Amino acid sequence: MSVIGIDFGNESCYVAVAKAGGIETIANDYSLRGTPSCVAFSPKNRILGVAAKNQMVTNMKNTVFGFKRLLGRKFSDPHVQKELKHFPFKVEQRQDGGIGIRVNYLGEDNVFSPEQITAMLFTKLKDIAATALQTQINDCVISVPSYFTNTERNALLEAAAIAGLNVLRLMNETTATALAYGIYKQDLPAPEEKPRNVVFVDFGHSSLQVAACAFNKGKLRVLATATDPQCGGRDIDMALAEYFCQDFITRYKLDPRKNQRAFLRLLQEVEKLKKQMSANSTRLPLNIECFMEERDVSGDMQRLQMEQLSADTFTRVERTLRALIHNAKLRPEDIHSVEIVGGSTRIPSVKSLIEQVFNKNASTTLNQDEAVSRGCALQCAMLSPAVRVREFSVTDVQPYAVRLAWDAARHDDGDMEVFPAFHAAPFSKMLTFYRKEPFSVSAYYSNQVPYPDSFIGQWHIKDIQATPEGESQKVKLKVRVNIHGIVTVASASLVEKKQECGQNESIEMENASEGNGQAGEAHDAAMDTSGGGGGADGPEGAEDQNDDKKDKSKDKSKKVLVKTIELPIDAQVPGFSQHDLNGFMEQEGKMQAQDRQEKERADARNALEEYVYELRGKLSEGETLHDFVAEDQRNRLVNQLDALEQWLYDEGEDQNRQVYCDKLNELRTEGEPIKQRRLEFELRPGALDDFALTI
Ligand code: ATP
Ligand code: MG
Repeated sequence: MSVIGIDFGNESCYVAVAKAGGIETIANDYSLRGTPSCVAFSPKNRILGVAAKNQMVTNMKNTVFGFKRLLGRKFSDPHVQKELKHFPFKVEQRQDGGIGIRVNYLGEDNVFSPEQITAMLFTKLKDIAATALQTQINDCVISVPSYFTNTERNALLEAAAIAGLNVLRLMNETTATALAYGIYKQDLPAPEEKPRNVVFVDFGHSSLQVAACAFNKGKLRVLATATDPQCGGRDIDMALAEYFCQDFITRYKLDPRKNQRAFLRLLQEVEKLKKQMSANSTRLPLNIECFMEERDVSGDMQRLQMEQLSADTFTRVERTLRALIHNAKLRPEDIHSVEIVGGSTRIPSVKSLIEQVFNKNASTTLNQDEAVSRGCALQCAMLSPAVRVREFSVTDVQPYAVRLAWDAARHDDGDMEVFPAFHAAPFSKMLTFYRKEPFSVSAYYSNQVPYPDSFIGQWHIKDIQATPEGESQKVKLKVRVNIHGIVTVASASLVEKKQECGQNESIEMENASEGNGQAGEAHDAAMDTSGGGGGADGPEGAEDQNDDKKDKSKDKSKKVLVKTIELPIDAQVPGFSQHDLNGFMEQEGKMQAQDRQEKERADARNALEEYVYELRGKLSEGETLHDFVAEDQRNRLVNQLDALEQWLYDEGEDQNRQVYCDKLNELRTEGEPIKQRRLEFELRPGALDDFALTI
């Protein structure tokens, strides 16, 4: 079994594998390491990755891209509405308010969710890895932007589940990069020494992410992050495309905005031009043949011009870099180095902006494209028993403050901050409530999140009643930021004080730490809302609260024995129901079977075509098989091959697999004996000398 790390980028994905010998990035079926985040549909199959991107311009309406930014969002979300403007494919509102992507697949209209489309891409990545490694792939770690909210993270997990991937961790992209950096550094400060602070800048296609991390030998701790989810390389492409639109209107009276295909081609060309400008400051040409109305267009641009057109983007980059310094409370002199990754950090002015803000040279220790996937593969290896790697403890942060509110419907409602912004993660906190009846808590983000809805979820805690004496019961909730960065109420338990320990009873200590057992991280701690005037206790709980305080003092000396009973919880969190997910999984399975069938059909057709060409070539005058068959049979066979070639481009274009196989077998019964005669002839001692004499 292999363990893999997946960098799911908005533009392209990378897959890395952890092996005994180290980390390796896997090449795809086109021998490329990057696989475009592109999914296309045809009347016969789905087209995934490189092949999808290659046919994008000719199959625009059915080629889906940019879906990473749609995960877990509603159609009406202003962010989605903004993204839609750039899509040539159809996007609509589903009945539940979610996003539906309408494409023509197998000759019919089909509507898929962004989670399903992402799952399709994941099945491709899984396939690429399985082919390269010759094993089944199940366990993986997938990268996620550090600014992703609960809903978006959950949607990504759903996509992975549809693709049959077992996600051991959703790992923040900059944290994965930090791990890829730290694990090979031999000179990190000892655990008791002052840590080495390194800043990581990842400027990709759709967003900018920056993190400050503190390293000691064998561990890293994320101090803070700063992100701009709306600032990436594509914004520069857009600015350049806008410029050329104006240019073409003036000089050619052609408006690419009016023609989606032309605009898409323009975007592809300006992206190429932008990349060339990173290496070259002279004026560079842009030529597009047969652009619109069958006319060729051309233009040019210089790096300086690109910088002026993208000034807005650079301002946003600078703002985000400065926000990191502020969030991490670091002075420039506290920063050891700045590591840059992500395609857009190749732009010289971005690099110099980074150097200017941090007053340091930007280092490129890491592979700019592969660092995220490599970090994910390392983390996967650490979490999986299948591979052994050096341990490296990773403490991440949860970037948004999270609040918990309870019993809004009652008079004793309350609200408190459970996790401040940049709190360590994963992490659990224990909250104590005193209740005589079932109650609900809900969690929400309290500071600015790049998501229209701050709601995280609501949990209804059931099976609570008053004690026989009519008193409140003590209920403990475990509120957790889990390994995926998802905030959840992980459990609720009723705490009954007991004199003795019996069956199913456990010893519990107030404020006891709870280890999470993952990757050697034990950052979990406990918190008691009853202590700090958090207001979690209703009026009826006041006495208990005092009791509790007494208990606590006893705890410290005697360890009071208590019985805890797990309480059932009804969770209402955004996302698909299990029923829907099962349906998606089944549908994905069918689509995979269809793709397989279509591939086998195409392979059978190709095999027949290849055989036709090969045999005909070898039968021709002067070629290897010409003299090994009687003339009349040869002429008949060549005629048959000509007819077959014609048929393959005619009605034979679209037959089922068996038809091609039958024709191939029929042909082989004639062709193979001829080949055999040639082989026997060659194997005779001195055969080739004889052959040389005969010609
Ligand atoms: P994201 O991280 O935003 O989800 P991603 O991981 O797919 O997306 P990357 O692969 O890091 O993004 O970067 C892709 C971006 O980098 C594209 O906008 C691309 O045009 C840009 N890029 C790549 N190489 C260069 C270059 N040499 N010069 C300028 N820009 C470049
Ligand atoms: Mg990226």
